[in-house]
Amino acid sequence: KAKENGRNCFQFFTTAMHEHAKARSQLEGALHRALANQELRVVYQPIVGDNRLGCEALLRWHNDALGEVSPVDFIPISEELGLIMAMGEWVLYQACAQARAWLNKTQQPFFVSVNVSSTQFKRQNVVALVEKVLRDTSLPAECLTLEITETVLADNSDDIERQLEQLRVMGVGLAIDDFGTGYSSLGYLKRFPLSKLKIDRAFIKDLPDDEEDKTLISAIISMASKLNLIVIAEGVETPAQLALLQQLGCDYTQGYLHSKPSSAAEFEAFLLKYQTRTDHSQI
Ligand code: C2E
Ligand code: MG
Ligand code: MG
Ligand code: MG
Repeated sequence: KAKENGRNCFQFFTTAMHEHAKARSQLEGALHRALANQELRVVYQPIVGDNRLGCEALLRWHNDALGEVSPVDFIPISEELGLIMAMGEWVLYQACAQARAWLNKTQQPFFVSVNVSSTQFKRQNVVALVEKVLRDTSLPAECLTLEITETVLADNSDDIERQLEQLRVMGVGLAIDDFGTGYSSLGYLKRFPLSKLKIDRAFIKDLPDDEEDKTLISAIISMASKLNLIVIAEGVETPAQLALLQQLGCDYTQGYLHSKPSSAAEFEAFLLKYQTRTDHSQI
């Protein structure tokens, strides 16, 4: 009896594994062609400060057979397949060209934040790429921020440290993304030339009620400001969260409360509205 069950189990798993492998290879095949088939697009989400606005550029992939695939699913596979270099270059170029256009339109200080994966730093010269894209789009380096996760810093590589230092010398901003999750080491904040810190939304979601999260965030903000890091809170969804974060001295907030990530045209409408708002406050 047990043997029979075991066999059924085994059969079940092989079928499931086979289906999984099939789905995965379909995804991989489609991903190889996504860029050339123009299935990728960039959406923009506002990063809102008191009198300054920026945005984060986020990659989206729509495939006719697979539908809308989340970057949480396709970015890790793109890293494995080595496709992230071409995709990363493409996003960076799109985001910088778009930021330049917005800068021309509004004549206001503005920044765009682009995610760069650890694979890119390991297998590509990010400094040379950024130099080229900034030159081609004539975007000032100060208007670009690169978001890196702790996995980039956890590599502990001198080469990556050198690349980050060169980027800072150029004037490019460097944000540590999803801070507080993963292998958070406070040592990173000292060793690497970071300029911004993004608090992961895991710490925001239970605000304003969760006393422990409130204590943690308040400590992160005061530590960051002493280290001259600009603080951004991710995943801000309610007015109560926003009010608390402002009260605690958080520099920027990002989340569905302000806007979901949206097309360049929709973001532009947000940008122009925000500009009117800040212009009024100056009168
Ligand atoms: P991330 O860099 O931490 O980006 C923030 C994620 O939180 C985005 O998910 C965004 O849509 C989501 N988000 C923003 N506000 C809220 C909110 O109020 N509530 C909730 N629940 N979520 C919110 P998205 O766009 O699905 O991207 C997921 C991750 O994929 C990103 O996390 C980033 O790590 C990665 N990713 C996206 N685009 C790129 C890219 O161009 N290059 C690389 N290397 N990674 C990317
Ligand atoms: Mg990010
Ligand atoms: Mg993040
Ligand atoms: Mg996050």
